[in-house]
Amino acid sequence: MKIQLKPSANPVPDVERRERVSAPGFGKYYTDNMVVANWSEADGWSDAELVPYAPITLDPATAVFHYGQEIFEGLKAYRQADGGVSLFRPQENGARFARSAARMALPELPVEDFVATVEALVKQDAGWVPNNPGESLYLRPFMIASEVGLGVRPSNAAMYLLIATPAAAYFNAAKPVSVWISTEYVRAAPGGTGEAKCGGNYAASLVAQKAAAKEGCDQVVWLDAVERKWVEEMGGMNLFFVKGSGDKATIFTPSLTGTLLPGITRYSLLTVAKDLGYNVEEGMISVDQWRAGVASGEITEVFACGTAAVISGIGEAKSAQGNFTIGDGKPGPITMKLREHLLGIQHGTVADAHGWMKRVL
Ligand SMILES: *Cc1c(COP(=O)(O)O)cnc(C)c1O
Repeated sequence: MKIQLKPSANPVPDVERRERVSAPGFGKYYTDNMVVANWSEADGWSDAELVPYAPITLDPATAVFHYGQEIFEGLKAYRQADGGVSLFRPQENGARFARSAARMALPELPVEDFVATVEALVKQDAGWVPNNPGESLYLRPFMIASEVGLGVRPSNAAMYLLIATPAAAYFNAAKPVSVWISTEYVRAAPGGTGEAKCGGNYAASLVAQKAAAKEGCDQVVWLDAVERKWVEEMGGMNLFFVKGSGDKATIFTPSLTGTLLPGITRYSLLTVAKDLGYNVEEGMISVDQWRAGVASGEITEVFACGTAAVISGIGEAKSAQGNFTIGDGKPGPITMKLREHLLGIQHGTVADAHGWMKRVL
């Protein structure tokens, strides 16, 4: 796939862009350009085009509006200490995008083409990459079924798009996340789409998010669909449990059973924790084991991780069976240490021992 350039002829003026980048929020502003590529069953992928950011026009009978055949990714470009810009593990996102496509009967975009489009947009809109640690340019690649027609079948046409938005540092150490453990709704069932990063999973989760908010919680914790007992993940993030404390602590995360989204942050933190000398373990943890572990002091910290927020400490858990506070309700020392280390790698201030960073500029 070649990338043809038609960058914005009227980019956002530098002064305004600097203001937006200095208080980026998340998803509040979009950069000057975007990438578009089309696929058809007959011709495969067209060349990708880098074009001015703009609305797209679609026929109301386009398949995605009716049957939700859609997938997406989320990855970040980070400002480096020397002023350059690097991506964090973009090949991993490309590989997951291809796996999500296969599950949702969408065409696979080759990983090298996925990465090439991300690099092209970041290079073009590099002025939008914020400068402070923890801030980044968030990239959102996505693909929709673009065949026009209401027949229920895998679409014979697809559209790939890539947009970018500057992102603030999410973390608020003084305000850890509270979670509602949902036994009423489930996110994913065996054989379903839990492993795919698709919009449909999120559409189905929003009512539970609303229920969590009603209970005064920030996020939902999902349990397995069959026994409604085993902890899977939190909202759009994976979960970690710290057992014990100090150098002897064990960093534990639920196994990838097929109903969890295999997070790249999760996978990276398992490596980082090992590098820092902690024991790491993947397995099953029930809500009762979580509650009992917190009560006995065995579980000292709980945190969630994902590209958008990197790491968020979890202070309090609530459920129909009762509420409990984790540790002193503040993000713990190991949560903070892992966060600092991973952000250090991402911003190029900690050695990139595993070759995770891809320099763009
Ligand atoms: C994207 C996502 C994650 C986190 O994945 P990362 O690759 O770490 O960003 C976790 N859970 C769900 C449901 C997700 O959609």
